[in-house]
Amino acid sequence: MKKYYIETFGCQMNEFDSERIEYLLDKEGYSASEKIEDCDIIVINTCAVREKAENKLYGHIGNLKNLKILKPDLLICIGGCTAQNLKEKILKDFPYVDIIFGTHNISQLPELILKKKEINKNICEIREKGFDYALDRFRHTFPFKSYIPISIGCNNFCSYCIVPYVRGKEISIKPGKIIETAQKLVSEGVVEIMLLGQNVNSYGKDLDNPVTFSQLLDKISQIDGLKRIRFMTSHPKDLSAELINVIAEKPNIMSHIHLPLQAGSNKILEMMNRRYTKEDYLEIIHNIRSRIKDSSLTTDIITGFPGEKRDDFEHTLDVVKKVRFNRAFTFIYSKRDGTAACSLEDSISKKEKKEWFKELVALQNQISFEENQKLIGRCPEVLVEGKGSKNLLEGRLENNSVVNFEGSNNLIGRFVKIKITGAKSFYLTGNILK
Ligand code: SF4
Repeated sequence: MKKYYIETFGCQMNEFDSERIEYLLDKEGYSASEKIEDCDIIVINTCAVREKAENKLYGHIGNLKNLKILKPDLLICIGGCTAQNLKEKILKDFPYVDIIFGTHNISQLPELILKKKEINKNICEIREKGFDYALDRFRHTFPFKSYIPISIGCNNFCSYCIVPYVRGKEISIKPGKIIETAQKLVSEGVVEIMLLGQNVNSYGKDLDNPVTFSQLLDKISQIDGLKRIRFMTSHPKDLSAELINVIAEKPNIMSHIHLPLQAGSNKILEMMNRRYTKEDYLEIIHNIRSRIKDSSLTTDIITGFPGEKRDDFEHTLDVVKKVRFNRAFTFIYSKRDGTAACSLEDSISKKEKKEWFKELVALQNQISFEENQKLIGRCPEVLVEGKGSKNLLEGRLENNSVVNFEGSNNLIGRFVKIKITGAKSFYLTGNILK
C-alpha cells in the first residue's frame, strides 16, 4: 500500500484542511505513514501568517531535496496559504516540488496527483477564489472530538494580516449542513465539537437567509449527546450580547472565549484596522464576566507594530493587567508583503521589540500562573484527550485548561473528575477522583 505523510503548519483551519487531505488520500488507497522516509507522497500544508513559519517552511522543503534524489518517484506536494501566496518563489527555488496547490484547490489533490503521474511535469494549481468545502469529506483525527468549519475566509482586512488575501472573502456554510454534520459526528461518538472560522462572530451575514452565530450555536447546543461546543476565533467588534447570553444559558457551550486583543493602544488599534477601542474591549470583557459564570479568556497580542511607542505598549500591559487573561499568545509583529501595514514606517529597533515582548510574556506568565493556582482544590470534569508528557494522561477542563494526571489509556475519550493538586503557568496537575 502506498503511504503519505502530511505536515501541517499554522492554525486550526489548516489542521482541518489536513484532515480533508487525509480523507482524500485514504479514499485513493493510500495509508498514513509515521515516518517521512517511508512515504510515497509528502504533503506540506503551509501557513503564511508569520515570517518565521514561512522561513521554517523553506528550510523544510530544502531538506527534502536529498530524499527526492534518493527516491525520485516520491511526490512532494505543497499546499495551504504560502502555496497560495508565493507559488512563484516555491517553483523557482524548489524545482523538485511536484505539486503546488492553493487553499481553494484541496479537493482537486487526487486528480492533480494522477495528472502529475501522467505528464511528469511540475503542476501548479491555484484558484484565486472559490468555495471548496464539503463537510462530509474529512477524517477527524480524534474519535471523540472534531472540528467543523462554519465559515471560510475573512472580510476584515486587519492591516497586518495576510489571511483575507490567501483565504478570500468570508463565505458562511449553510446552517443546515453544519447541524447535519454535527449530528452525524455525535452519532459516531464525538462528544466535543470546535466550530471554526476566521471570525465566527460575523457568521451568517452573507447567507440568503441570514442567521447569526448565536442562533447557530443555540441550534447545535440542542443536539442530544453533544457534551461540549467550542468555537474559534471571535472578533471583538462582532461579539454580541446575544452571543454572551447563549453561552451563559447553554451548559454544553463552553465558557472559554478566545478574544484577540492585538494591542491596547487606540492609536495602534486604529492603525491595525481592528475597529474597536481599548474601552470597547474592556467593556466586552466586563459583559462576559458579569454574565458567564467561571468564564475563561485567552487572547492574541502583537508587540512592535510599526509606529508603536512605549506609551502605546503600556496600554497593552494595562489591558493585560485589568483583564487577567488565562493565557495569551504573544507575537512580535511580522511584516507580510501585500498587507496595508507593510508600507508603514517601522522605527522601533528589534532590540526594543524583543524587550517589550519579554516584558509582556513575563507579565502574562505570572498572571496565568496565579489564575491556575486558583483552581487548586477544585474537582472539575475533564475530557481525557490522550497521553501527555511523562506518560501521564492529558485532559481538558471546560475552561480549556489542560491537566496532567495518572491513569490508564482506556480513559482516553471519556469524561472523568479530577481533583486539581498543582498549577504551573501552562498546565495543571491532579488526581482522578474514584
Ligand atoms: S479578523 Fe483580522 S486578523 Fe483575523 S483573519 Fe481576518 S484580517 Fe486576519
